[in-house]
Amino acid sequence: MGVSAAYHLSQIGVRDVVLVEREPMLGMGSTGRNAGGVRHQFSNESNVKLSIESIELFERFEEEVGYEIDFHQDGYLFLLSNQQDVSDFRRSIEMQRRLGIAVEMLTPEHARQLAPGLELDGVIAVTFCARDGIADPNGVTMGFAKAAQAAGVEINREAEVTGITTEAGRVTSVQTTRGTISTRTVVNAAGPYARNIGKMVGLDLPVFPYRRHIFITEPISKPVPSSHIMVIDFESTFYFHREGAGILFGMSDPDEPSSFNTTVSWEFLEKVTRAAVKQLPALADAGIAHAWAGLYEMTPDAMPIIGPAREVGGFFMITGFSGHGFQHSPAAGRILAEMIARGEARDFDTAPFSFNRFSHVCTEREANVV
Ligand SMILES: Cc1cc2nc3c(=O)[nH]c(=O)nc-3n(C[C@H](O)[C@H](O)[C@H](O)COP(=O)(O)OP(=O)(O)OC[C@H]3O[C@@H](n4cnc5c(N)ncnc54)[C@H](O)[C@@H]3O)c2cc1C
Repeated sequence: MGVSAAYHLSQIGVRDVVLVEREPMLGMGSTGRNAGGVRHQFSNESNVKLSIESIELFERFEEEVGYEIDFHQDGYLFLLSNQQDVSDFRRSIEMQRRLGIAVEMLTPEHARQLAPGLELDGVIAVTFCARDGIADPNGVTMGFAKAAQAAGVEINREAEVTGITTEAGRVTSVQTTRGTISTRTVVNAAGPYARNIGKMVGLDLPVFPYRRHIFITEPISKPVPSSHIMVIDFESTFYFHREGAGILFGMSDPDEPSSFNTTVSWEFLEKVTRAAVKQLPALADAGIAHAWAGLYEMTPDAMPIIGPAREVGGFFMITGFSGHGFQHSPAAGRILAEMIARGEARDFDTAPFSFNRFSHVCTEREANVV
């Protein structure tokens, strides 16, 4: 989010931008730990609009931003096993089609052809969008960062933000472990740590960290998809896609409370494996080559916060993407850059992303979170 916002600011002529990262390299937070999934299949219309714009940029990323991002549009399959999910997805598909996205319900035979080795016992419907896919998070991060730097943005690594000073209700400077930066505008793009940054200006951002695991198997010779198709069992949230000669897979744990813990729990692997082998039996005796855990940055309605804080002049937020932040970074960065430079974003109703929505009662939740 930080590099996308900096890139988009630089492209509309705002070049006196400093990006501050506490780690020695970019992309060591959630962005470096995600599954690379990119999809149109969301239940909230505003999220689908973020996907449409973002996927269009991913499709021309190399030519426009100048970096290879290994984008494979082999599609996403959602496996549905109860009637309620089927009717919810049917409603979402209507909305997605109205926005011009080709999403379809597939027969089980068609799904098995697209994803060889897939077991569909208990699955009553399957949805598919061929333009969904996976891309390389490191490529996207480095692409935005390098293009932003080329346009004049300064990137300071190993510089931790420790405080923000305000005067008369407005930001005046940012304190970092490498010195103080005078500024009238600050963007909070701290991902799962965004709440800590919010506290520095007296705001309580409802952004909560939740651990999520990823496991990658050793090469598998049994039938598994040869394409990069992403398969998600919506009920259990187990998902997988091909990664090299193995399979990358993950699942959420509804019993796990919010925390900043990113150590791998090997007990959890047993739980995932029970769900995994039902859908992809080839995983039963696959060895695990790599595993890691990272943090989702969840908001109460699973919708992001993009835009200014009314309470503190010059304080902007781009956070709380609730597990979808990699794929929505292109559109979100463009929208935030325009809000900063021009006061509003062109062609986008940003009300569903406003920080102030949490003081009202009516928000439409994003339901397709895995
Ligand atoms: C296992 C897993 C799988 C996922 N799969 C997907 C997926 O398939 N598709 C998808 O779209 N999304 C996915 N996500 C979610 C996605 O990774 C996040 O939504 C996204 O990376 C958030 O980006 P960000 O820039 O907001 O946060 P981050 O990438 O965490 O960046 C925030 C940065 O702020 C820095 N920072 C924090 N505090 C400070 C401070 N005080 N001073 C200086 N720097 C600071 C951090 O070091 C970090 O580099 C997944 C996440 C996980 C954990």
